[in-house]
Amino acid sequence: MVDVYRCPNCLGPLLDQPDSLRCDREDIDYPVIDHIADFMRGNYYDQFDENTILTAEHRQALERENDGAISRINDFYLPLIKASSLRILDAGCGNGISVDLLTAAGHDAYGIDSSALRRWQWRERVHRERLAVADGAKLPFADAYFHVVLCSGVLEHIGVEEMGGDEYRVKPLPNRDEARRAFLGGLLRVLAPGGTLYLDFPNGAFPIDFWHNTRGGSARFHSTREGFLPAFAEVVQLANDLDPRITVTAVSPNGRLRFRQVRQHWYGRAFALPMQLLFAAMDHVPRLRRSAVNPFLVIRLTKP
Ligand SMILES: [Zn+2]
Repeated sequence: MVDVYRCPNCLGPLLDQPDSLRCDREDIDYPVIDHIADFMRGNYYDQFDENTILTAEHRQALERENDGAISRINDFYLPLIKASSLRILDAGCGNGISVDLLTAAGHDAYGIDSSALRRWQWRERVHRERLAVADGAKLPFADAYFHVVLCSGVLEHIGVEEMGGDEYRVKPLPNRDEARRAFLGGLLRVLAPGGTLYLDFPNGAFPIDFWHNTRGGSARFHSTREGFLPAFAEVVQLANDLDPRITVTAVSPNGRLRFRQVRQHWYGRAFALPMQLLFAAMDHVPRLRRSAVNPFLVIRLTKP
């Protein structure tokens, strides 16, 4: 454990203490509870109290996520990655199932998330010591450590303010681009030369968002200038700002989604077949993948 993690502040080595990892240089103790290291120093993405009882609805939503997490790795990313025994980081790994699956497939996998709720969920994972509470912009790993970094459904949440309530509302913060650059820069820092970063999220150029709503899978119509969901060109711009030599390509999202939640709605059932045909078409027509007809972007960044 101590061999892999570095201080996210100074990137120096950490001392293995009974209940913490310690950076002597800065006099910081990062707590380790249930074999899970916590580098956030209380600054979590969410507010979650382990003593509160989750509502039945919330519990169901978390259970539904399990199938999605399994399919994301087993049906999509493992076949896409192909090579074996790689060092892989899942940045924003949510429930952490991905790390157990990637490890079972023979990879040296780690996962981070900045959420207190996730840390609570991780107690059920087999490889808890491979999960850490951390921020993508300040990762607790050495430079160039990973061959592959996966980051699903995270970039859109950086640099925006999301409001709960009956209706999902979101607005960009003034420092959005700077925050997204810092986040991407953090992911690219831990990537080895020639390594691959996969980003995926709903396409901001597509006017319907099925993923961000107070009710799962219901359609949220939005302006393409909303400033929340990134489009392909925004990722190209961010990558170019960081290092113009980074190559950015759109991958076919076919196989990435199961549309299970969307199918609970009439329009989901009505559009299921046309959507399947569109996703299959993207296997063969590369220019569709980055265009506004694609509801869900999968983007590959290759580090020089
Ligand atoms: Zn330090």
